[in-house]
Amino acid sequence: MLVEAARTAINAGAPESARQIADDAARRRLLRPVINGTGTLLHTNLGRAPISWDQAEQYSNLEFDLTTGERGSRMDAAPALIAQVCGAEAAIVVNNCAAAVLLVLASLAEGSGVVVSRGELVEIGGGFRVPDVMERSGARLIEVGTTNRTRLADFKRAVEQHGDAAAVVLQVHQSNYKIVGFTEAPRTAELATLSRPLVSDIGSGLADSRCSWLPGGPPGWLDNEPAARQTLEAGADLVTFSGDKLFGGPQAGIIAGRADLVAACAAHPLARALRPGSLVLGALQATALAYLNRDGDAIPFWRMASLSQDELRSRAQEIGVGVVVDVASTPGGGTLPGVEIPSAGVAVEGDQRNRLRNHRRPIIARVVDGRTVIDLRTVHPDDDSEIAAALTPGSD
Ligand SMILES: *Cc1c(COP(=O)(O)O)cnc(C)c1O
Repeated sequence: MLVEAARTAINAGAPESARQIADDAARRRLLRPVINGTGTLLHTNLGRAPISWDQAEQYSNLEFDLTTGERGSRMDAAPALIAQVCGAEAAIVVNNCAAAVLLVLASLAEGSGVVVSRGELVEIGGGFRVPDVMERSGARLIEVGTTNRTRLADFKRAVEQHGDAAAVVLQVHQSNYKIVGFTEAPRTAELATLSRPLVSDIGSGLADSRCSWLPGGPPGWLDNEPAARQTLEAGADLVTFSGDKLFGGPQAGIIAGRADLVAACAAHPLARALRPGSLVLGALQATALAYLNRDGDAIPFWRMASLSQDELRSRAQEIGVGVVVDVASTPGGGTLPGVEIPSAGVAVEGDQRNRLRNHRRPIIARVVDGRTVIDLRTVHPDDDSEIAAALTPGSD
């Protein structure tokens, strides 16, 4: 990269610009740590849930059974722990939630149909539409109801009309949007009465609505977010969710629920194409163990989400540059639309986003009412000094 930068500079007749060109290239072309000052906890552009992961050069027992010395399964460790967290019989892990939905439908409804409400055929961001992903599974979508109102009777009629061709009932959580007003949708427990496997794509991945990993229990802002454990208890046969949203782990997709259906997914040829490697499974195992230890502080998303506004105000005071401001953090990541978590940070005059992005540790900030604001909820306390340095006039 340095040679390329030098050549570009020389060809432009400005050899002294080589350093600048190299720095720019490093910014554009290298994956690097950034400080998230936006207050969006699951910032999709910044990698969603922050994770801490580091390992020495090593082999692992990824697919080796240390008891028998025979071949083992990579789904025996982290996925089994996740099943335990969610109260599921079994679970497997794939690359992301879109892959989880794809694999479930390919395994349970390929060549037949999946019944789904018109109010739940959503676009998940980056231009990806769930219906397009679903159709790639080879399952036909049997759409029922309307955008705002779908009743159990609509599902019943479709199941009766299509018979065996309606192999699966799918419920998709409206994670990144809300339909308000004259609305109706059947509950999970009602859909579970339809004598077809019920798959609930909860997406955002709250493991258990009791939040036993938080000393204070569920925070108020969680609202009515569906949780994996309770959705299964209500009668869903499978749930699918992302590993890097409210679950707080690495990018992954989890399929959890009835053992026979999970086994059918694991046996489908696509499972091999969608499986994660040991880096992801290792990070997921650490996340699952933190849940089982009821140690929310060990999951960066939950630690950050639980910080009190007072704590954040005093950190802002400590930083000592600009003014201390109260702000509102958001869960982000296409979860909990409209939810705000009272937070605090520092603000400086004018739009300084460019300058902060060009800091040695890039800092991503927001501009509110002509001021640049850094929300400290999403900033690791170790990085406060970096923020103070970056905001100090003349520090460049
Ligand atoms: C986020 C989301 C997805 C996509 O998840 P990825 O892990 O980004 O693939 C699918 N379904 C729902 C309901 C979601 O919220």
